[in-house]
Amino acid sequence: MEPSKFNSLIEVDDQTWLAFNHTQGRLIRTSEPVFRYLRQDPGAQLDEQTVARLRSRGFVVESRSKELDYVAHHLSNFRFGRPVVNVSVVLTYACNMRCPYCYETASHPPQTTLTPEMARHLVADIKRRVDEVGARGVALTLYGGEPFVNLKVARQLVEDLRVYTTAQRIELETIIISNGTLITEEAIADLRYGLKFVQLTLEGSPQYHDQVRVGPDNTKGTFYRILESAKMLLKAGIGVQWRIQISPADWRSIGDCFEALNAAGVLRHPNVRLYFFPILDIQSVCSAKSFACYEEYFSPDMLEHFWKIATAYQTNLFRLPKPVWESPYCSFVNMNTWVVDPSGRKFKCVAEIGHDDAVCGTIGEPLPGPERTRARSRELRVINRTAMDYAECRDCEYMPSCDSGCGFRAAAIKGTWDTNSCEMHKGVVPHQIAYYYKYLQQAGESSRIEVV
Ligand code: SF4
Ligand code: SF4
Repeated sequence: MEPSKFNSLIEVDDQTWLAFNHTQGRLIRTSEPVFRYLRQDPGAQLDEQTVARLRSRGFVVESRSKELDYVAHHLSNFRFGRPVVNVSVVLTYACNMRCPYCYETASHPPQTTLTPEMARHLVADIKRRVDEVGARGVALTLYGGEPFVNLKVARQLVEDLRVYTTAQRIELETIIISNGTLITEEAIADLRYGLKFVQLTLEGSPQYHDQVRVGPDNTKGTFYRILESAKMLLKAGIGVQWRIQISPADWRSIGDCFEALNAAGVLRHPNVRLYFFPILDIQSVCSAKSFACYEEYFSPDMLEHFWKIATAYQTNLFRLPKPVWESPYCSFVNMNTWVVDPSGRKFKCVAEIGHDDAVCGTIGEPLPGPERTRARSRELRVINRTAMDYAECRDCEYMPSCDSGCGFRAAAIKGTWDTNSCEMHKGVVPHQIAYYYKYLQQAGESSRIEVV
């Protein structure tokens, strides 16, 4: 018996010791002797009963080599064994807004829009893949540009997949990533089937948002329009995920944003989630886990500031990490996941959408021979990239919830996908866990965390 390699041990203060196991995604509060034992302090010992309790919760394992085999199995199964075909589709690069920092219009032709014919190819491609791998479901993300600009094709895609998945008796789950300014009750009704949540973006305080989120004719005042969209979605039983973009110019006014959301009834609602997104380096940060990286860009007092404001509105900003096989860090490492651009080209990374030298396949005309080989190797570069291949990762407590980090970021920083990228985990995760716990304490809910 020995302590798991994948425990994060956090001394919150001289009375509070936390242990988080990344393989199980489980948090416990410990006594000091248990903490010392898990930390492997010289001479630290526990009675058999306590060790057995820790073992049944994953904090102690029979042997670390067996534990590593267990993690390796799950990392592999996550890549090759999850039978859901998962497609994000750029319905259009066009957008009704002109946010100054947006990278999409800078690197793509803004008028490129998915046609009804290409949408039929996409559905055919999804069906082929479902048959090939015996998938039990389809996950579709409607993405842009602004997806509601191409509502007609969005409707067609959802309807075709509804008919298909119903006939096959498999699940369809959809997500929409939207700026929230074109949502209407009719549009929600059209896209309702399988719709789990819509992600809506705010720029922080209403005042700052309305300066930044402007339309082509410099129209202002979109903040409250977006809140109206959120109300419509919640009324229809659809979740809302707020992505609040943090700008160094405005972060101190974030309380105004919380106040406005709260007053509109779109903050403390069981169907509402919220995260912050740093915009300083948007092309190198996947929104999937952007939450974890603001310490890199922003000072710890910013973290403390957000935490205090969110706590005042009874909102726990922090979630506990989960192993990637339960909550993917990069979902594109799965072999059945890709993002498709309006010309029908497939990519394996959201930061690479539309880049000619990153194409991993097509949904229509097959690529010619040599290009097909290159595309396949780009695809495998993402799928086969695993923490198991990097000694530093195999030795790292975060490995089950990090899995070597973001490949795109690794390439941007170190010049190759074939290496690990620690920035979003190291130094940040213990803060996340401690803040999560401190929130529960403040809210009088800390008894939810087991004490060992
Ligand atoms: S490689 Fe990185 S940027 Fe690309 S999809 Fe994965 S997590 Fe996101
Ligand atoms: S990338 Fe870094 S933080 Fe992530 S598992 Fe590897 S060593 Fe750990």
